[in-house]
Amino acid sequence: MTRLYRFADDSMGGRRIGTPDHERATAYIAAEAQRLGLEAAGEGGTYFQSLPLVSRVLDTTATLVVGGTTLRAGTDFLATTTATHPADFAGWKLVYGGTLLDTSTALFPVPPTGTVVLFRGIAQGAEAGAIQRTDKGKAWVAWYNAIRSRATANAATLNANAVRAATNPAAMVLLTDQGATLNLTLTTAAAQALFGGSFDGVTAGSASKPFTLTLRYVDTPRIDRNVIARLPGTDAKLRGQMIALGAHIDHLGVARAAMDHDSVRAAHMGSRAGAEGAASRKQTTEDEEYDRIKVLTDSLHKTRPVRRDSIYNGADDGGSGAVALLELAEAFSRGSAKPKRSILFVWHTGTESAPALSGSSWFLDHPTVPRDSVVAQITVDMIGRGEATDEVGITADEDPRRGNPNFVEVIGSRRQSSELTALIERSNSDAKLGLRLDYSADADGHPEGLACRNDQASYARYGIPATLFTTGYHADYREITDEPQYVQYGHMARIVELVSRTTLTLANLDHRLKADKPAPDPKAACKP
Ligand SMILES: [Zn+2]
Repeated sequence: MTRLYRFADDSMGGRRIGTPDHERATAYIAAEAQRLGLEAAGEGGTYFQSLPLVSRVLDTTATLVVGGTTLRAGTDFLATTTATHPADFAGWKLVYGGTLLDTSTALFPVPPTGTVVLFRGIAQGAEAGAIQRTDKGKAWVAWYNAIRSRATANAATLNANAVRAATNPAAMVLLTDQGATLNLTLTTAAAQALFGGSFDGVTAGSASKPFTLTLRYVDTPRIDRNVIARLPGTDAKLRGQMIALGAHIDHLGVARAAMDHDSVRAAHMGSRAGAEGAASRKQTTEDEEYDRIKVLTDSLHKTRPVRRDSIYNGADDGGSGAVALLELAEAFSRGSAKPKRSILFVWHTGTESAPALSGSSWFLDHPTVPRDSVVAQITVDMIGRGEATDEVGITADEDPRRGNPNFVEVIGSRRQSSELTALIERSNSDAKLGLRLDYSADADGHPEGLACRNDQASYARYGIPATLFTTGYHADYREITDEPQYVQYGHMARIVELVSRTTLTLANLDHRLKADKPAPDPKAACKP
């Protein structure tokens, strides 16, 4: 609790990646890890692993030349790329992909890196939704999502917001030379110039005219780093193996405008305690909704003055897991129970960002410890909520799992190892923790896709048995109101105790935990 009030304090500014606030939050974690006697296990003998993240601003002197026509960045096209040294994209091709969501298009094989697929048109809200629910629509979307580099052309002029975004220093890009992506936005005329004036008779999969793309950017390095520490195991033979524990440091930063804390809370109480819950809630009219929020806000304002706030504290989201790991580090390094295998602590960055920026995926692709030494991984994120007071508006009939002090979701444990779930269950019953372990969100193809949406998925991607513990969504999820005073510390402590017991069991097991399910292809997209 003490650590969480510091870590989720306003002074941490929401810990957004690429900001000095993120740097301060990672420095705090590293200092605590060091104070607790953990070894540095990051790069070059430090507690950190940096990701090559830059703010990338498009230089509008960039050009795209096709035939005798010179197209200009910021007027005729916009471009983003993950290439470390973007200059001329010699050898890159562009092929026609048809109209967005046109399921009558023949789907050609997804091209390798070095080919951009151009799509025309705009997917319209309701109509697009209807198409996406059909089998053909689903197949089209899966194909589209597998294409790494895309171009779109849907208007006579570039959208002003898109131009602003491309030239905004807040845009962050993770650099890579292998498998770099290139994404283009073109005006209709620019796209037509590439295909010789008209799309009539252009079939999907056919290549554009040859072109020369010369891109320039202004790159500014950003601070984005994982914190990695290790507690060496006590058994000389087993110490080379590690049980990894993970949480995330980053959160959403600062909102553009300040909002009244209690109004925000009232607006979300009962309206979003989980997608499954929300989906089954009774429909209310806008007026009824407004009245309900007004009553709630007024009652809160009777107890305390209006407080304007713009900081996404992320007390539960990110914060609860990050401080739980410090607590576990303290217990293992100073307590009486000594793990035989080593314990690896990784505080990931970028969990709130696009998967491409995720620190866990970077760590697994560029591990600072031998990847094969990681026996199992446990991620903890959002483990401080989920009691009845968080579930206003959802009755037990609608979602009987939630709103009780024993609730905890376990996601992923069954996917790589048939043994892991049993060990977790045994830890819960041996310690008489009385937690009700809920696996429903781990169902194959679950619409929320939690099995793919947190850091444990990066470990599972390499066949490492991994699981997420979480108490799930609540009214303050991704709001400025996710503050430490709403965290249910007793509930959280029991979950941390479960993680502690499970970790010790894994660390002291007389055999290495078996990963007996087929390992996925680490390069393939995660399947929920
Ligand atoms: Zn999170």
